Amino acid sequence: MKWLEVSFTVDGELAEAIADLLARFASGGVALESNQIEDDDAEGHPISPVGVRAYLPVDEHLQAQQQRLEEGLWHLGQIQSLPEPCYRLLPEEDWKHAWKEHHHPVRVGRRLLILPTWSQAPVGDRLPVILNPDMAFGTGTHPTTRLCLTALEDYLRPGQRVIDLGCGSGILSIAAARLGASQVYAWDIDPQAVQVARRNVSRNELSEIIQVKVGSLLEILAEGKQFTPTADLLLANILASTLEEMISTGLTRVVAVGGILILSGILDQQVKPLLATSDVHDLQLVETRVEDDWRALVLKNQ
Ligand code: SAH
Repeated sequence: MKWLEVSFTVDGELAEAIADLLARFASGGVALESNQIEDDDAEGHPISPVGVRAYLPVDEHLQAQQQRLEEGLWHLGQIQSLPEPCYRLLPEEDWKHAWKEHHHPVRVGRRLLILPTWSQAPVGDRLPVILNPDMAFGTGTHPTTRLCLTALEDYLRPGQRVIDLGCGSGILSIAAARLGASQVYAWDIDPQAVQVARRNVSRNELSEIIQVKVGSLLEILAEGKQFTPTADLLLANILASTLEEMISTGLTRVVAVGGILILSGILDQQVKPLLATSDVHDLQLVETRVEDDWRALVLKNQ
C-alpha cells in the first residue's frame, strides 16, 4: 500500500488545530513533530514551529478524502491564515518509518515526559507518560494541555483523588497517577476517546489507579459518592462555555470542600464571565496561568 503524506510547519497551537482536522481523514495517523526534547529550556516551553504530518492511504477513496480535507483546510484558513500543505507519496516502508520518526518525546514542566509508545529515549529522572498518539488531541503539545500538566505538578499532593473530566487520550489522568494520585476517575463523552484512554492507561500499567468511563458531569452526579467519591482535585480541559455550564450544573458537588479545580481551554476574553459564574458557586480564584492567548484557572472549592 502507498500513502499520501500531507505536511505543514506551523506554530504549536495552530498545529493542534490542523492535526485535529487531518485526523478525520488520515487513517494512517497524524504526527506532531516537536524537537522540544533536544533543545527546549528547562521549563519545557514549546519550540516553534511544529511539523504536522498526516498519512492517507492511496486507495479508491483517496480523491474524495483529499477533496474533503482541502475543504476543511479552506474553512480553517478563513479563521487563521495557513501555509500551503506539502504532499508526498510514500511506499509502505517509508510510511512506517516516517510515522515513528516524527513523534519525539516531549518534556513538560519540571517532572513529566510525554513519550510515544515506541520510544527508546532515556527517561532519566522524569515521570513517563506513555501515549500512543492515535488521537491528535492530548499529545502534550497544545497549550491548554500543558497548562493543566504544569498546574497539576504544583497542586497535586500524593494520595489525593482526582477527577479528569474530558480525558481525551488520558494524558492528564496518567500524569496525575504518576505524580502520586491514589485514584483517578476519568470521563469523556466520546466513546472513542474512552477507548484510546483505556489503552493508554493499560500501556502505563495504571489500570488499578485510573478508571475511564463514558459520560460527563451528570453521570458522575448520578453515580453519587459510592462509585466516584468527591475529588481532592478536578481537571477539566474543555471549552469555556462547557465549563461554565458545568459549574452551573453542580461541578462543585463532585469536589471536596477545600479541593482544587484546574480549568483549562479558556481564552483570555472568556476568563471574566467564567470567574463571575465561579464566584456565584463559591469558587475562589487561587491563580490564573497563562500561555499565549490561553488561560487556565486554578480555583478552590470553599
Ligand atoms: N484532557 C485532554 C483532552 C482535552 S480535549 C487534554 O488535556 O489534552 C477535550 C475532551 O473533552 C475531548 O476528548 C472531548 O470529547 C471531551 N468533552 C467535550 N465535552 C465534554 C463534556 N461535556 N463532558 C465530558 N467530556 C467532554
